[in-house]
This record gives sequence, C-alpha cells and structure tokens, in this order.
Amino acid sequence: MNKYKVAVVGATGVVGRTILKVLEEKNLPVSEYCLFASKNSAGNKLKFNNKEYIVQELTENSFDSGFDFAIFSAGGDIAKKFAPIAVERGCVVVDNSSAFRMDKDVPLVVPEVNKDELKNHKGIIANPNCSTIQAVLVLAPLNEAYKIKRIVYSTYQAVSGAGKKGILDLENGIKQYYSNTDGNNEYELQKFPYPIFNNCLPHIDVFLENGYTKEEEKMINETRKILGRSKLPITATAVRVPVFNCHGESINIEFNDIYEINDAIEVLKSAPGVVIKDDLENIEYPLPTEVSGQNDVYVGRIRRDFSLKSGLNLWVVGDNIRKGAATNAVQIVEELMKM
Ligand code: NAP
Repeated sequence: MNKYKVAVVGATGVVGRTILKVLEEKNLPVSEYCLFASKNSAGNKLKFNNKEYIVQELTENSFDSGFDFAIFSAGGDIAKKFAPIAVERGCVVVDNSSAFRMDKDVPLVVPEVNKDELKNHKGIIANPNCSTIQAVLVLAPLNEAYKIKRIVYSTYQAVSGAGKKGILDLENGIKQYYSNTDGNNEYELQKFPYPIFNNCLPHIDVFLENGYTKEEEKMINETRKILGRSKLPITATAVRVPVFNCHGESINIEFNDIYEINDAIEVLKSAPGVVIKDDLENIEYPLPTEVSGQNDVYVGRIRRDFSLKSGLNLWVVGDNIRKGAATNAVQIVEELMKM
C-alpha cells in the first residue's frame, strides 16, 4: 500500500487539534506528517501519534518538499493564498474554510452523501460548513425517499464553532459571573459583539445586505449544492448559544410526496453516520453534552408537522468540531487515498 505525506495547516487551532486526534484514531497509511500554523506558533510542540512534532510557520515555500495531501483549517484568507500554491506543487487540498465551497470546479463533499463528487476534483476539495454537514446527513436520505419541497433551519450553535476566541469569551463570562460579585472584573470580548454567557446571539458571521447572516446564507447555498437541488426553497436563522461544543438544529421539512412517520424513521435508521435517539417515555433525545466527542450525528424529536400536508420536524445534534469539520475532512482524505 502507498504511504502518503500529509500536511495539516492550522494544526494549533480548535479544528486542527481535533484533526490530529482523528488522524491518530484512523491510522491512515501516512509516512510523514508536517504541522503548520502562523509564525506565533512556530517552534511550539504538539504531541501526536506518540511523537512530538515541531509546529512550522506556513510560508510560500512550505509545500516545496512535496505533499500528497494537505488539510487546511486556518481560515479563508490563508486558504485563498496558500491552497493554490500547494496544488501547484502537486498536493491535493481539503479546505475547511468557506473560501472555495461555492466554486463550481470545487466539490463540496460529505462522504456519506456525495463522495462520487471527489472524482471531479481539480486539486481542491471543500469541507462544508459545520451546520450544513450535520443537516445534510439526515436530509439527503429523506430527499431521496420523499423529495424535499422546502426546508426551515433554526440553529443553536456552540461557541467552539467560533474557534479559540469564541471559547475564551464563554470561559471568561463564566469566570466573571462566578468570581465577581462587585462587577469590577471586566473582561475584553475576543470574538462576539456581546457577552455570550447567559445570552443567545442571533448573529453568526457577518450580516449581508439582504438581512441574513453569512452563516445562514452558507447553510442555504451549501445544502442546495450538496443535495444537487439548486433552487430548493430554504430559509435559516442561525443563533449562537452558550454551549461549549455541539450544534443543535431544529429542521422543519416539507415534502412533495406523502410519507408515513414510521417509514421516515426507517429511512433515518439506515442513514450512514446518523444515530436515532428518540425515546420520549424515557425522556431521551440528543443533547450536546452527550454528542460531544462523537463522529455520528444524532437525531430525535422526530414528529409530523401537522400544519402541512406532508411536513416533518427533527432535532439534530452534531459535534461541530468532529463531524462538522475534522472528521469529515479526514474522511475525505481517506476516500481520496482509496481512489
Ligand atoms: P482557530 O481555533 O482560531 O484556529 C485557527 C488556526 O489557523 C490556528 O492554527 C492558527 O495558528 C492558524 N492560522 C492563523 N493565521 C495563520 C497564518 N497566517 N498562517 C498559518 N496558520 C494560521 O479556528 P478554528 O475554529 O480551528 O477554525 C479554522 C477554520 O476551520 C476556519 O476557516 C473555520 O471557519 C473552519 N471551521 C471551523 C469549524 C468550527 O466548528 N470551529 C467548523 C467548520 C469549519 P496560530 O495558533 O499560530 O494562530
């Protein structure tokens, strides 16, 4: 079997560190790993695969030594600048940012749903947005079975989705609340425009001219691209909540075809990467605290929407750092290695 040389760009970040964990768990046929980050982290040590790696500064020459694959999770600007350089040096890039997701030449892939798209790559493959990945895992098989007519997304997204600075804002808010009674211990917000502790912010990523946020637009456009339904009516409201890890999503679906609820449950039961947790008698439904650290996406509160002729409501919880980013990216590399 071939042994590959793999670069991890943004290895010190929230997603990057989880990519290393997933790579360790999967034990892919890799002969050499190199870890890159900004110059602030150059020289830092990261333990991975029972070995200590020195983090290197990402530069225009980083890919000169020849890599087979690079997994980027260092933001859109870094991806736009360095992914084409890596590709030019013969490396295939899987990018976690939104930089290339809507490019028509770039496959946007969730392996359980559309891995055949990988055959069409031209050097860059985009990993979808975390909220989109967990949604399409349940939507794709339902679309196949009953043809979706419309989707309404309402998300409850964890602070880890906003990287290291998002986590810090929640930690600092909690520390202030529990350590300070006189209100003097002010902290500086790193990421969010308002404190996230004890709050909900209906604002993820920047606002667009049409009143939506970029996160909401990403969910709409990426869902359409992955399902191959370019005009599918979808609306979304994305909300940041004071949860450390795992996004929750209420998904309301209208179908073209009439369905039976037990059949829909069977469809979800056989969906790869999806676990049903839906036992109301025993008060069991998917919770962020339980799904955190898992690669599967959990679905519960499965019930008919009685306001529509053929409607369904779902509650979907996924680990945004694992399946929403790291696990999906590593799965893509794994699929590419098999091709
Ligand atoms: P993060 O915790 O802030 O980490 C950012 C990473 O990028 C760090 O390793 C950082 O290195 C590196 N970086 C920053 N500037 C760099 C530069 N000039 N050259 C090389 N590396 C540089 O962010 P994150 O949450 O891991 O997110 C990373 C990417 O994944 C983003 O594009 C994000 O949109 C995407 N994503 C995140 C999630 C999520 O749930 N968090 C889900 C899906 C996709 P230093 O440590 O040296 O600064």
